Amino acid sequence: MRIRLDRTICDGFGTCAKHAPEYFSLDDWDYASLIGNGEVPPEDRDQVMRALMDCPAHAITEMSDVRAGDGAGPGPAAP
Ligand code: SF4
Repeated sequence: MRIRLDRTICDGFGTCAKHAPEYFSLDDWDYASLIGNGEVPPEDRDQVMRALMDCPAHAITEMSDVRAGDGAGPGPAAP
């Protein structure tokens, strides 16, 4: 899976770094940064999904599967 962190909506709760410290680092104000390129191997999926679901600001999103109609991707162009 691949994840993405939108720092513009991160509210600095620090929950993500508690669940998955290998993937999220916090700055002096507890705002998160993604460590690495967002690629998450299957063995780390659970901890990262926990971080994703517990983020109160919903700043972390999963990029691995593009679902139609969820607004996550550009989707097919209308004719
Ligand atoms: S859990 Fe969400 S709001 Fe909190 S630091 Fe992480 S990305 Fe930001």
